[in-house]
Amino acid sequence: MNTQTHLLLASALLTKRGQKERNIAIVAGALLPDLPVYALFAIASLQGYSSQEVFDDLYFREEMRNLMGLFNSFFVAAFIAATGWLLRDKWWGWPMVFFAAAMAVHAATDLPVHVDDGHRHFWPFSKFVFNSPLSYWDHSHHGGVVSLVEMALGIICALVVWWRFPILWIRVLCATAITAYIAVPVYWNWVFG
Ligand SMILES: [Zn+2]
Repeated sequence: MNTQTHLLLASALLTKRGQKERNIAIVAGALLPDLPVYALFAIASLQGYSSQEVFDDLYFREEMRNLMGLFNSFFVAAFIAATGWLLRDKWWGWPMVFFAAAMAVHAATDLPVHVDDGHRHFWPFSKFVFNSPLSYWDHSHHGGVVSLVEMALGIICALVVWWRFPILWIRVLCATAITAYIAVPVYWNWVFG
C-alpha cells in the first residue's frame, strides 16, 4: 500500500487523544517500514541511477531485500513489542509497544498486495516472500480494484482521525489526504484518459 494509507490506518486503529508519546510512536512505526525504499531511491538518484534501474534491479538485490526485511519483519516487530512490554514501567515502554504494533499493521497490510515486489516479512528466520495475486499498483494484477479499496480505506481512516483529534493541523492533514485520494486518480485519468 501507499505510505499515506499505512500512516492513516495505523493512526485510526491505534492512536488515542491526549497520549502524545504513544501517538508519535505510532506515526514513526507506520512510516519506518517504507524508509529503506525512500532511502534507496534518494541515494540511487543522487548516484545517477534511473528509477527503472532502481525498481528493476537495486530493489531486488540481496542486501536490499534483507534491509527491507528487517524493517518489515513480524519477528522484529514482536521483539520490539516484547522489549517495550518488559520495560513498561519506563515512560517509553508502552510507546515502544505501540511503535511495534504500527509496524506490524504496516507489514500485515503490505503482505496481501505485493505480487513479486513483496518483503521478507519473516526475516531473519525465513526468506519467504508471499507472492500475492493482488497488487496495489500493477493493473495486470487487479491494481485498479485494489487502489479503489485502498482509497476507500484511506478516506475512512482520515475521517476517523479527523473526528478523534480536534486539532487544526491534524485536520488540515486529514483534509489534504482525502483531497489527494480523490484528486490524484482524477488527475491521472484526465492526463491519460
Ligand atoms: Zn510498505
